[in-house]
Order: sequence, then structure tokens, then C-alpha cells
Amino acid sequence: MTDGGRKSLAGRAFALFFAVSLAISALVGVAVTTASFLAYERDAEDRLLAQAQACASALEGQPDGEAMAVELAKTPFVETRATLVAADGTVLYDSYADPTSMENHSERVEVVRARDSGQACVMRRSETLGEDSLYAAALVRDGVVVRLAETRVSLASFLGGMAVPLVAAMAAAFLLSLLASRLITRAIVKPLHGIDLARPLDNDAYDELQPLLKRVDAQRAQLEKSVDLRREFTANVSHEMKTPLQVIGGYAELMEGGLVVQEDVPHFSGIIRRESESMRCLIDDVLVLSRLEEDGGEAERVPLAGTCQRVVERLRPAAEAKGVSLLADLSDDAAVSGNPAIAEQMAYNLVDNAIKYSPEGGTVSVSIASSGNVVTLSIADEGPGVPDELKERVFERFFRADPSRSRETGGTGLGLAIVKHAAESMGGNVRVEDVPGGGAVFMVSLPVIK
Ligand code: ADP
Repeated sequence: MTDGGRKSLAGRAFALFFAVSLAISALVGVAVTTASFLAYERDAEDRLLAQAQACASALEGQPDGEAMAVELAKTPFVETRATLVAADGTVLYDSYADPTSMENHSERVEVVRARDSGQACVMRRSETLGEDSLYAAALVRDGVVVRLAETRVSLASFLGGMAVPLVAAMAAAFLLSLLASRLITRAIVKPLHGIDLARPLDNDAYDELQPLLKRVDAQRAQLEKSVDLRREFTANVSHEMKTPLQVIGGYAELMEGGLVVQEDVPHFSGIIRRESESMRCLIDDVLVLSRLEEDGGEAERVPLAGTCQRVVERLRPAAEAKGVSLLADLSDDAAVSGNPAIAEQMAYNLVDNAIKYSPEGGTVSVSIASSGNVVTLSIADEGPGVPDELKERVFERFFRADPSRSRETGGTGLGLAIVKHAAESMGGNVRVEDVPGGGAVFMVSLPVIK
């Protein structure tokens, strides 16, 4: 009962219950049959012994062995062999054979025992008849013993006699097992069919299923959350694109309509160029973020100092243009595991922000320090710092503490979200703290690899 290689619970449960109940029925059947066969044999022994004793009492009044033999010969027996044995073992009478041709019976077990204790019942093979027989012997008097014998009923013929009820019982057991197994299987499987996966925790199926249902619920909640986040993100991206597009469209329309005097054309073209630049930045950031969300990029060994060195060189012109001194202490040679491009983007965003938010003539310091298995990249500036209540929120997508200023500096509001994602994709985290005397220090802590 498999479906594409899968196992069916109902099929397995049914087969198991059915096999077990059939086995139990068979065992009970064998036990009952054995017990009734034993009881039947005991019954036969008791009956034959009582009969032998009745014979002995009837013969007791006769004067001698001869007279006893004559008397015994008169008794009508059906399928029972009667034998009279004299005190010296001579057979005086036998209803099945000629006594003169029979050997001395004084050593027959039942005869010896009957002489000893008055009566005896034995099961053994008859030498005269050549088959298993049940013997019951009783002492008449003066050592004369009367013995009755019956052919033993074999188990096979006993079973033969019980054939009809036996077959009926087996058929009933088979049908009952079938029915019971089907009912039990159905009862077990039913709660499973009733599970509502849309609300996994509202089910009262089985305790054993709770861990699975909890996992399904957690996954569902996570899926819903990421769908919501994606929807919100898409809405934000579209909104962010609208502003530069409106500006570009607006100025292009003015120039197209000849409403701009020639001297102003360079100014308006500059605005259009800057706005399209900021749209390009936004698109770049969105692409980086979605790549990070997908897989975080191929992980490899990234020496942090080299990464920061490149970032500092790339941003030195921007710092110099703003009169900001860019200091770097990159003596620590710790390496981390991650995607080199993403690691560089992370450091770039932090140093870029630090320069952007620094006052003219300020200082930005980039440093790396490892301790134990953790390396921390710190970027400190002398800017306005981040108020305590925003220290978590600045890492949200499109969050800007001061939207007008961020726009002015060409920010997309995605820079720190990328930093946070990148740090997490490398197994680390990022936080921002205050610099004594004013300024912010962004610290990325990452696990070191050897
Ligand atoms: P943006 O592109 O607007 O800079 P970010 O995600 O990089 O977006 O930063 C989010 C917000 O965090 C910024 O708008 C700013 O308010 C704050 N911020 C980032 N870096 C600094 C910094 N070095 N000093 C003070 N505030 C900062």
C-alpha cells in the first residue's frame, strides 16, 4: 500500500492489526482445542475406570475365576475389550482374542497396579491389538483382575470430529479480525484527515503530532511575515522611485516646453543627473539586498583589513572633498567567512555614512580589533550621533532619522539595512553606540576563521 514509494499509515496499521489479531485467534484456537482434547481424554479415563469397577463389583460374588469368566462373557460391551486375568497372570477370558493363545498378563502395568492399589488406568500400546489403547483395571478379589480397554482416540480423529465447529470458529475469527482491524485503522486515521493546516495549533489530533504541527505553524507565520515584509518593501521601493522620477519628469517637461532660459539649462540638467544618480543607487541597493536575502552570496575567506583598506582608498577623495580626515588602524589580520563583495559593501556603507554625517573638518576612524573568536570592525565619527530611541530603528529598511537631510546627501535609507543583513549573513551582528564627546560608532562583530 504505497503511493509513489511513500508508506501508507492506514495500510500498515491495518496489516499489523490484522496479522496480530489472526495470530491471537490462532493461538487461542490451539489452546482451546488442546484443553478440550485433554479434558476429553481425562473424561474417557474416568468413564472406563468406573466401568471396570462396576464389572469388578458384579463379578465379586462368583465362586471362582471360571465362573467370573462365564459371567463376564455375558456382559454386552460395545467397542470395549474386556479381559479377565487370574492371580497367576493367566488370561481367563478376553472378548477380542482367544485366551489360550495369549501370553501371561501378570507383568502388564495396569494389572500389577490394580493388584497393588485396587484400580489403575494406563495409556499404552496394546501388544495383542497393535494400537494405542487406554486400559482400566480393577481388582475383583484374590488377585483376579478385570480389565477394560478402548482404542485411544487420536488427536487427528478428535479434530476430525470437531471439524465443523472448528472451521466455523476460524472463519468467524478471520471475519472478526478483518472487521476489527478495519474499524481500529479507521479510528486511528480519522483525526489525521481532520487536521486543518491553515490553523495547525487548533487541532486536537494526537499529542505525538504536536511538535510537527508547531513547526508547520511557525513556518506558516514566518511565511506570512516575509510576504508582508516583501509587500511593504515593494511599496517603499516604488514610493522611493517616484520622487526622483517626478523631479526628472518635471524639469524635462519644462525644458521641452522651452520654459527654461538657456543659462539655466546646465543647472536643471545637473538636477536631472543627480536624481537619476540617486535612482541608480536605490536600484543598486535593492539588488544587493535581494541577493543577500536569497543566499548571502558564495562564502569564502575574507581578510577584513584588506577589505577596509580598499574601502578607505575608494572613499578618501569624498572625505578630502569634505575636509574630513580618514584614519585607519588596520593592523589586525583577522579573517572572516563571507562573500567578499558583500563584506566590502558593508564596510563601504558604514564609512560612507560616517563621512556624510561628519561635520567639516571632522575625523572618521576605521579600526579592527579581534579578541578570542570575535573580530570587531568599528567606524567612529564626530557627527550628531544616533539618539538612543533610534539605535535599533536606523537598521530598518528606508528608515531615515532626518529624511530631508538624508535625501540631500543622496542616501537611499537602505545602507544600514544592507549592513545589518550582511553582518548576519556572516554569522555576526551590528550595533551603534555613542562616542564620548559626540559622534556615533558603528561596530560590526563577526566570528573569526583561522
Ligand atoms: P541613508 O541612506 O539615509 O544614510 P542608512 O540606512 O545608511 O540610510 O541610514 C539610516 C539612518 O541612520 C540615516 O538616515 C541616519 O539618520 C542614521 N545614520 C546612519 N549613519 C549615521 C551616522 N554615522 N551618524 C548619525 N546618524 C547616522
